[in-house]
Amino acid sequence: MSVSFSELGLSPAVMQAIADQGYTQPSPIQQEAIGPVLTQKDVMAAAQTGTGKTGAFALPIVHLLSESAHRASPNQVKALILTPTRELAAQVAESVAACHQHTSLRSTVVFGGVSINPQMKQLRRGCDILVATPGRLLDLFQQNAVKFSELEILVLDEADRMLDMGFIHDIKRIMKLIPAKRQTLLFSATFSDDIRQLAKQFTNNPVEVSVTPKNSTAPSVEQAIVHVQKSNKTALLIKLIQENKWEQVLVFSRTKHGANRIAKKLETQGIKSAAIHGNKSQGARTKALAEFKSKDLNVLVATDIAARGIDIDRLPNVINFDLPHVPEDYVHRIGRTGRAGATGHAVSFVTDEDTKQLKDIQNLIGKHIDVLEVKGLSVSGIAQAALKAPKDKRPKKPRRTSSGSANRTNPDKPNPTRTRRQRTKKPSE
Ligand code: AMP
Repeated sequence: MSVSFSELGLSPAVMQAIADQGYTQPSPIQQEAIGPVLTQKDVMAAAQTGTGKTGAFALPIVHLLSESAHRASPNQVKALILTPTRELAAQVAESVAACHQHTSLRSTVVFGGVSINPQMKQLRRGCDILVATPGRLLDLFQQNAVKFSELEILVLDEADRMLDMGFIHDIKRIMKLIPAKRQTLLFSATFSDDIRQLAKQFTNNPVEVSVTPKNSTAPSVEQAIVHVQKSNKTALLIKLIQENKWEQVLVFSRTKHGANRIAKKLETQGIKSAAIHGNKSQGARTKALAEFKSKDLNVLVATDIAARGIDIDRLPNVINFDLPHVPEDYVHRIGRTGRAGATGHAVSFVTDEDTKQLKDIQNLIGKHIDVLEVKGLSVSGIAQAALKAPKDKRPKKPRRTSSGSANRTNPDKPNPTRTRRQRTKKPSE
């Protein structure tokens, strides 16, 4: 049974902010999480970007903090929200500010890659809600710009991503600096063993809420794979964009150099493109994102880390130029399309080197992805299987394509091949 915002018992100032943002009904994660947060319980929530998870913690935090007459003292923080990337930090901060606009609370955001001095200045006044990336927060602490003795609430947002990005040591250091008596909210796209371990260490008897069936992909996303030779990937991308007249395409590249290369090649074909990744300055990333949102750029080529947290409503097309190493990233990537009921397209390029990754992805999402044939560029499924057979030393059984069942996985069967998530290199913050 669905609960309305007014039944959740949020204050008038928060209700006004909800109305200003045009939300009429709490999203499923908000329905599940807001109640326990309001009763000051620890919460462990499984929710991906796009589910309204930011509101699920920001709305009740604003309610709780605005109930008290006491505001954060100079350099103190009352609620700390840790996020893995600058982009996500900026987006969460924007959402937090919208939630508390009718209160006297103050919030700010700090992340690396930009000058630290203005951040130190802002923290001096005291900050009721601080959104931060872990590295910069520790730098600010070392410089005495931020103190935690008034901290009441900690949020770990996209905790799985923080672990993947190697932030575990920073998180542990931060945990030692903040009061043990606090409310902790842990949000993560998936509840892996590592996340459960983290929750065990840092939360106290948390209420578990989960809204998306684990690792399922949104039904409004039409997924396809194209079997292609590595050397034809760029030509395939250009053809898909031009023939379908796609205006807004998020392309995932495995590497930073790859992202640059793809964007350059598209530009030579008159397709307005930019690459975003960890080596780009914050200014360049923000600019590219804004231009992509306004469709001044048609293609944004991103690495997984840079793309994390990008929130673009109804993003119509996602291309996996390279398949992700970690199958869960496939779910994150295509979760960006088909939001708010619109249909999105997610097309993945698969070379003969990607067989294992594709298999892991299909096992994870519990379904077979249809094969798209692109005249002149795709390698048909059967030809692909023939190409691979000697290398894999498999019996020469042709692999069936789109409607075939040879490659279909059983969603009910446990997945024996799933690997633990690999840790990626920690990017410079
Ligand atoms: P998030 O998962 O927090 O990144 O939110 C995804 C998008 O959903 C954002 O654009 C929010 O503004 C929007 N959103 C959050 N809560 C609601 C709601 N209750 N109703 C409609 N849209 C919402």
